[in-house]
Amino acid sequence: MTKRLVILGAGESGCGAAVLALAKGYDTFVSDYGTIKPSYKDELNQLGVQWEDNKHTESKILNADLLIKSPGISDSSSIIKKALDAGIKIISEIEFAAQYTEAKLIGITGTNGKTTTAMLLHHILKNGGINVGLGGNIGKSFARQVAIENYESYVLELSSFQLDGMVNTRLNSGVLTNITPDHLDRYDNNIDRYIASKFRITQNQTNENQFIYCDDDPLTLTNLKLNKGNGQQLAFSIHHEVQNGAFLNGKEIIVRLTNLNKEFIMPINQLTISGKHNIYNSMAAAIVSNSYEIKKESIRQSFSDFTNVEHRMEWIARVKGVDFINDSKATNVNSAWFALESMETPVVWIVGGTDKGNDYSNLKKLVKQKVSVIVCMGLDNSKIHQAFGPDVDLIINTSSAEDAVKAAYSFSKKGDTVLLSPACASFDLFENYEDRGNQFKFHVKAL
Ligand code: ADP
Repeated sequence: MTKRLVILGAGESGCGAAVLALAKGYDTFVSDYGTIKPSYKDELNQLGVQWEDNKHTESKILNADLLIKSPGISDSSSIIKKALDAGIKIISEIEFAAQYTEAKLIGITGTNGKTTTAMLLHHILKNGGINVGLGGNIGKSFARQVAIENYESYVLELSSFQLDGMVNTRLNSGVLTNITPDHLDRYDNNIDRYIASKFRITQNQTNENQFIYCDDDPLTLTNLKLNKGNGQQLAFSIHHEVQNGAFLNGKEIIVRLTNLNKEFIMPINQLTISGKHNIYNSMAAAIVSNSYEIKKESIRQSFSDFTNVEHRMEWIARVKGVDFINDSKATNVNSAWFALESMETPVVWIVGGTDKGNDYSNLKKLVKQKVSVIVCMGLDNSKIHQAFGPDVDLIINTSSAEDAVKAAYSFSKKGDTVLLSPACASFDLFENYEDRGNQFKFHVKAL
């Protein structure tokens, strides 16, 4: 009998799942509680898939044999609770699509660095001649690609929410970049639950698979003692040598893969992406790419021609000797820490937005050392004033990108850097972090 598959959420992930579901002969229904974008409505109509938006009709959902849930929908939403009560199996689009491909899967998770690492690794593999796709949170959904492409490997950016909906999928390589508190609202403010989600990257792994993690990350290390999975462990560190994995030796990254008897060296001055955090991301990408049969020269070349991802420490312009950097994607305290840490000039720091329960204490030392002026850009800036008021010469409030850029420019001196690295979500003043970064860039270019 034809199985009924219901997809909740009709973004790229849900529509891609519908394409694959149709190809596999499911009776498919798509339901979105919000409004579906016109381009996706057109696509669903062309496919002949039934859909609804601005509602969830229970009679059409709770009769599903299998339910695919968009990572944006919380487990505590009423429709999910009802589906669970009805005993319906709920999975993510990644889990669904993984059943239908024999390709090697490389999953990348972590609080920060997922997109950069995934894009860098995809760039290296592709240039190295591997037939590789890039999916998960980036670009075309994994399910869509499984339906219409024929890749032999995939690099998948996986959020903790996607990992939560993965049960049987086994990753040939699982990368965990780091863990710091974020998104805790979705985990009942319980950091252990968030960590457990991230560690699902290791689930079902055998000793033929790789688990790649940061040996300098305290929360990763604590949990590794409790839950190490069965994959080969490959660590990376910038503070100490590791036996199997990657480490920093002076100004060079050394990758050492004992079981492949392979060593690879990459001078960090040849990397196109800068900052300590990007040394970590590069090490993770270097470990995975060196496990493939790719010429070392090609890997090195790819590291030196990778272009940084937009809104991540993106250099915009130099105006009368002042550099402007757009790090709008720094939506939590830890990513802003790495941004400030990488600054080599005095900084005028644009910070603020929707606070996610931020604890700013870890940033105070860096702010004292590097920041001369703080330009707050948010509706409520009181926590930033409390945290850093005593540490800087000047702290002012703005509530638009235009005012923030003009203020930052007027208080900067030749040789300074104006850094937008907000440490907060963007939803108080902007549509999303891309909108925030684009508005910042627009007003910088208008100076
Ligand atoms: P994600 O996809 O996990 O959100 P991104 O690569 O988009 O990560 O980077 C998000 C933000 O975090 C950027 O501001 C970036 O500068 C910073 N960042 C990138 N890699 C790391 C890392 N390994 N550790 C800490 N911060 C990082």
